[in-house]
Amino acid sequence: MQKVKYLTRPIGADTWLIEQHMLTSEASAYLIVGDEKAMLIDTGLALPGFFEAVGGLTDKPIEVLCTHAHLDHIGANRLYNKTYLLEEDRGLLTLQTTPDYLAGMVNSAVPGIARWLLKKEMTAILRDTTAAGSYEYINDGALFDLGGRSLEVIATPGHTRGSLCVLDRENRRLFSGDTVCDWGILLHLDWAASPETFLHSVERLRRMVDRFDEIWPGHHKKPLPVDYLDDYINCARSIVNGTATYGRRQQAQYAKYGRVLITVPAADRKQ
Ligand SMILES: [Zn+2]
Repeated sequence: MQKVKYLTRPIGADTWLIEQHMLTSEASAYLIVGDEKAMLIDTGLALPGFFEAVGGLTDKPIEVLCTHAHLDHIGANRLYNKTYLLEEDRGLLTLQTTPDYLAGMVNSAVPGIARWLLKKEMTAILRDTTAAGSYEYINDGALFDLGGRSLEVIATPGHTRGSLCVLDRENRRLFSGDTVCDWGILLHLDWAASPETFLHSVERLRRMVDRFDEIWPGHHKKPLPVDYLDDYINCARSIVNGTATYGRRQQAQYAKYGRVLITVPAADRKQ
């Protein structure tokens, strides 16, 4: 089993970052605590220790809101009473918990020695990811009143069809999952939406920047300034209007702009 380390720190009043560090990847979850209940935004990969890392941060009842149904965001859902997921990722959740599909995904997404290491754990990860969670499917605009603070769901299809961002309205923070990250966004995976759809999502977020001051992503460096949205808009536009030049990355190709890149399926990849 690979070593898993959790780093937990407050990023504001009653707001926590929980970073799950593994050899093969890193994933961030957030705990938003209101007067009556708390919401966990994502639950990492199904590796030991997540529940314990969150335990003790609050005595309020905790529910889960997933930014999308990828494996490294849904891992500990089974340990909580309720998980909210956007309706459009319902099918992805089924795919992500199908053994053959999962094996294929790991083969294509994880390189070399890391794949060999991760393969040894996939049985346990799959078992824990598929263990019964209690899911409720939601739509764009859903609102969660935690008592004294409210979370607003903004559907941002692109990285997956059912990707969402979460706006902490009173505290002006946007939790962006894998829709806005440092380094890049993957649009070449199964269940991704088109670059046009992703462009509309980031343009929509750009029109809302008077409502948040910083962006807290699902991976990599954090927080991000809101002008990352401009880099993503410019990058996505170059793909959509055909002016992008592409580099090659494993089974995908990518376009770059400023601080970010966007992957799309390689032209010669079998769909
Ligand atoms: Zn993802």
